[in-house]
Amino acid sequence: MPIQKSDGILLRRQDLRETSILLTFYTRDFGKIKGIVRGVRGPRAIFGGGAYELFALDEIIFYERKGGEIFTISQCDLLNYFNPIRASLEKLSYASYIVELLDSVTGLSDKNSEVFDLALNSITLLAGHSSSRRVARIFEIKLLSLLGLMPNFAECANCGSAAGIQPRFSLRHGGLICKKCLNADRMAVSILPGTVKFMEHIRSSSFERAAMVKVSVDVGRELERLLRRYLDYHVERRLKTVQFIREIAP
Ligand SMILES: [Zn+2]
Repeated sequence: MPIQKSDGILLRRQDLRETSILLTFYTRDFGKIKGIVRGVRGPRAIFGGGAYELFALDEIIFYERKGGEIFTISQCDLLNYFNPIRASLEKLSYASYIVELLDSVTGLSDKNSEVFDLALNSITLLAGHSSSRRVARIFEIKLLSLLGLMPNFAECANCGSAAGIQPRFSLRHGGLICKKCLNADRMAVSILPGTVKFMEHIRSSSFERAAMVKVSVDVGRELERLLRRYLDYHVERRLKTVQFIREIAP
């Protein structure tokens, strides 16, 4: 692979020995990549100007190293630091959650430019005046949809017939189950029609339209709870930022 250039959102930063850091980016053109930047720590460090901070949008130049999936990043220029997010503890924790979730559900070099656009749009929206909670829900639903993990709302996830009235939501079956199938998952929980409607609406709308949608307090709470459980069920790694958000914004 020759020298490559792409925009990327910084998902993770790990300090290595001496003056190097290992950065994980979700790039527009290559999906998730890991790369080493040298000479950025210590007394003679090159000033990064915020490019090495979590969820910064950078333009990176990188090339392959011998025998490995970790690249050498030779240049990393800051495109957007998202100042308004860093000025608010709440926004900061939600942006950190977005990149942590993205890191946990994607594999190296799974290229998907729609996922990149979704993450960038979500972080940009968070930097504006939108509610952090709403941005997080839109990001979660659209991400599930892009990754093919969206719950099945079209019919009963167990028997395939119409979900009917008062269906329940099953984590195990990944969708609604009808009244006849309650024995298929005793742990299935009730779900408001408004919650199903909202998730379907977000999935099928453009990001711009989704960003305008408002929900009732009840649906908002249920969405947060259900999506958390659904994501915890499908994402193996426990996310550190989830607990942090609970502590600062119960
Ligand atoms: Zn059924």
